[in-house]
Order: sequence, then structure tokens, then C-alpha cells
Amino acid sequence: MALCLKQVFNKDKTFRPRKKFEPGTQRFELYKKAQASLKSGLDLKAVVQLPPGENINDWIAVHLVDFFNRINLIYGTMSEFCTEKTCPIMSGGLRYEYRWQDDYRFKRPTKLSAPQYMCMLMDWIETLINNEDIFPTRIGVPFPKNFQQVCTKILTRLFRVFVHVYIHHFDSIISMGAEAHVNTCYKHFYYFITEFSLVDQRELEPLKEMTDRICH
Ligand SMILES: [Zn+2]
Repeated sequence: MALCLKQVFNKDKTFRPRKKFEPGTQRFELYKKAQASLKSGLDLKAVVQLPPGENINDWIAVHLVDFFNRINLIYGTMSEFCTEKTCPIMSGGLRYEYRWQDDYRFKRPTKLSAPQYMCMLMDWIETLINNEDIFPTRIGVPFPKNFQQVCTKILTRLFRVFVHVYIHHFDSIISMGAEAHVNTCYKHFYYFITEFSLVDQRELEPLKEMTDRICH
């Protein structure tokens, strides 16, 4: 029942089209700036800080879209190991179980398998970030009042992808030689959400031990 559109129409659900920033726009410049400081080898804790004079919502928007693309890709490369059989419940170990809820098909929190949950999640985020009313790209169009609330919700759910992947598929990460890559993405993400208090501390609990080890 819970196949999402991408699973139905596109067998190669691993690679979704990436959301791109249009060259020439202010957001694109900011994206390039963030990418440049990332590549310069500055420490990740420093690169997430809001550059002087920049708008906080622009900064959040740029990062959120970038994290979405990267996490989506990480899960995509891992998705052959995350199936209905291996992960019939979207969880993070035995202690954490995540239910899906949206405004469309699942109005009540619903148990889904991990791959179903991920598919719903990625579709849901894609729809939101392409919604001009929430993520305006035209110059002079303001962000909605609830912008940061929406971002909190998206980032909270994206964090769960890390929880699931780290707790249930760590051996696959290792066997693919992707540990350093995933860790870097996680650290960057973690520093970002904590810099701006975008995700509730309780949500970070499942990975706390690991976070203490790799994020200083
Ligand atoms: Zn899984």
C-alpha cells in the first residue's frame, strides 16, 4: 500500500534529480560560498556559522537543500541493503521506532518499513523545497513566518536517516568504504543543526554516544 510514486514509476529510485540552485541567483552565490569554505579544509564547526551580513533563512535554506541532496544520495547507495525484509520497521535499534505522518496519505502516525519511510520522506522533502511559498527563490520574495518550523521538521526527519543507517547498516557503510564520507556528512549536519538549535536534543539521543566520539 505505501509505495510512493517514485517506486511505482521509476525502478531506479536510487538517484533522484538533485535540486539545484540556479546560477546567478543570490542563493547560488551563497551555496558556492558555503561549498568553497567546506573545501578549504576549515573545520566543520566553523564553516556552519552564519557569515556576517548574510540572512539566516537564506543560510538555512541553502544548507537544508544541500543536506537533502547528500543524505538522499547516501541512503540511495545503501538502499540495496535496506529492504522490506531486512528493515520491516523504520527504527533506530530496539529503542527507537519512527512512524510516518503527513498531510496527505498518512494523517495519523503510521508504521512503515524503513524503505517505505525513506521514500515517503524524500518525496515529502522534495515537494516542500520545490514549493515557492515555503522556499522562495525569487529575489525580494520573503520567507514564510513558519519557515524555521518547517525546516526543523525536515531536519529532524533527515536526522532519522542517519540514525537508521548508522544503527542498522553500519557494516554496509564499512564494506562500501564509505565510512569517512558518511561521517563527514554527519558531522557537518550535526554541527549545523546544533549551531542554530534546529533539532530537539531528544531526537539526537539515539546517536549520542557516537556523536560524542566523532564530534568535538
Ligand atoms: Zn534499513
